Amino acid sequence: MPDRDPNFLFVMADDHAAHAISAYGSHINKTPGIDRLADGGMRFDNCFCVNSICSPSRAAILTGTYNHVNGVTDLDTLFDGRQVTFPKLLQAAGYQTALVGKWHLGHGGVHDPTGFDYWDVLPDQGNYHNPELIRWERGVTRDDEGERRVVAGYVTDVITDLALDWLHRRDPARPFLLKLHHKAPHRPWQPDDAHALLYEELEVPAPPTFDDDYSHRGSAARNARMRIDRDLGLEDLKVPVPDRLSPAESKHWKFQRYIKDYLRCVASIDDNLMRVLDWLDAQGLSGDTVVLYTSDQGFFLGDHGWYDKRFMYEESLRMPLLLRYPREVRAGSMCTDMMLNVDIAPTILDLAGVGIPRAMQGHSVRPLMHERTPADWRTSMYYRYWMHLDSSHAVQAHYGVRTGRYKLIRYDGKGDGPEWELFDLEDDPVEIHSVYDDPAYATLRAELTDELHRLQAEVGDAP
Ligand code: CA
Repeated sequence: MPDRDPNFLFVMADDHAAHAISAYGSHINKTPGIDRLADGGMRFDNCFCVNSICSPSRAAILTGTYNHVNGVTDLDTLFDGRQVTFPKLLQAAGYQTALVGKWHLGHGGVHDPTGFDYWDVLPDQGNYHNPELIRWERGVTRDDEGERRVVAGYVTDVITDLALDWLHRRDPARPFLLKLHHKAPHRPWQPDDAHALLYEELEVPAPPTFDDDYSHRGSAARNARMRIDRDLGLEDLKVPVPDRLSPAESKHWKFQRYIKDYLRCVASIDDNLMRVLDWLDAQGLSGDTVVLYTSDQGFFLGDHGWYDKRFMYEESLRMPLLLRYPREVRAGSMCTDMMLNVDIAPTILDLAGVGIPRAMQGHSVRPLMHERTPADWRTSMYYRYWMHLDSSHAVQAHYGVRTGRYKLIRYDGKGDGPEWELFDLEDDPVEIHSVYDDPAYATLRAELTDELHRLQAEVGDAP
């Protein structure tokens, strides 16, 4: 039935960097489940978030708007569910809609999820083991608030079980949207028993910038508190650091503790994605279902000596984005055009044949899915991180522009005026040497500054 409306299975992990997915060429792990989507669909190599932190990216995905528009600029600004979101529009068009897992946009009143027939979400960050969840379902629970209960098990398995339960009991005559949002692999990276010893005997290689000394840049990188050697705590590492290690040995030991637990959490996501993909196959639904796998942002996996995200640097800016839809996407295809998280909502609406509201700022990537780049497709993107010097990570607020080859970043600074960085991604793909003050780049610097301000105005933001 080729004219059936497609189903949508939107799977999102939390803090899963593309460079920890084998389909993206990971040197440190294998993800056969996620790779099935790359093999059967399209891999987007330049998908970026407009603000590399959890809640803001989630709000951008739901609304197709930038954070100064949807109001979720940092972790303390809650989402107002009265806004237009793509699940609401699909629901109004006759879709069955569900959200299971991490929400992280506030609870109660206008902050609860809207546009879903069923939602079952972790409160705030949620727990890895025996998580509490808040459930609401049309005609089942009370109208005005969700029900809290604890569900025994490991969070990634629990979320997948609840998602499969809903798929089983849905009305097969109508199309569905299922948003399946994992908590993992978010800090503090607690794996389940089945993966607790995975990689135990291995030495995970550190990335090339592991010993970055933060010179040749502004002060923001040097002052950030997300260093593996200094800022990881006992809750992250789970066991005390052994005595009598040199500083270099201690950093190496901490990295192994951190990255192995991170990859173990990823392995559990991958196994559970495999279960859902197998279920779609068994039900004969794979041909009719658009499956997306992404993460709310990227993550530093020892890159620059860090864990965490926030910076506009490549590792945290880039989102993994794999899309399988046999009706329209060639198996094993790749896209290097720039896609943004604000493009997800318009793309899904486009594929569902539902009108895209003019207020949505992203653009449908459907032409890119067909391996055709529109002549006016974006060649630059605007980014803004708002959370200036928060108490835990101390990253300066910044905004910037990335083009195919260059990146210009303007930091708020620490009270004595802004600081700037400019990277030539062709010469310096790992961004360790800003050329902002290099006279050879003066013309380019001026052009990029103009482009930054043009984009800022275009999306309706202000310095
Ligand atoms: Ca996140």
